[in-house]
Amino acid sequence: MNQKNNCEFCQIVNKEKDAKKIFEDEKALAILSPNPCCAGHILVMPKEHFSIIEQVPDYLIAHLSKITNKISIAIFEVLQAKGTNMLIQNGVAAGQKSNHFMIHIIPRKENDGFDFQWQPKQLNEEQMSTIELKLKEETKGIGDFEKEEKKPVMLDKKIEKIDKEENYLVKQLNRIP
Ligand SMILES: [Zn+2]
Repeated sequence: MNQKNNCEFCQIVNKEKDAKKIFEDEKALAILSPNPCCAGHILVMPKEHFSIIEQVPDYLIAHLSKITNKISIAIFEVLQAKGTNMLIQNGVAAGQKSNHFMIHIIPRKENDGFDFQWQPKQLNEEQMSTIELKLKEETKGIGDFEKEEKKPVMLDKKIEKIDKEENYLVKQLNRIP
């Protein structure tokens, strides 16, 4: 609980702290990064607090990925970006600064000074084969993805309206001899 209470991004979700909100729905929030690396640096996050991606339910990862893609498209359109990087810093060793899981979207232009390049390392055949076998074994069960539990249907105004329309149609139908 303490982690959540101290979390800057949970405070933004709970409207205890301001942010430039780009997109919001019941599960996700996208804001302009408060510490941007460039203009248009966006953070896409679940509203619920998760520290690392491993804790995020599969269906929510799918939802966040779709939102990330749509915002990336918007960045191309509106900010005239020539590319985008979508970045997850998963764990402190990967550069994660916040304890709230998020996806960074970074607009890119040619020669903008960012360098995500690396020098390829030479691994020998044995190293490559060992890694291949270990990961193949560990990942062979992938595919049984966690689905969102359907909540009981709540009667809201929209559904009531549809019901009324349907009832009306049924009545009309009943009148037909
Ligand atoms: Zn949080």
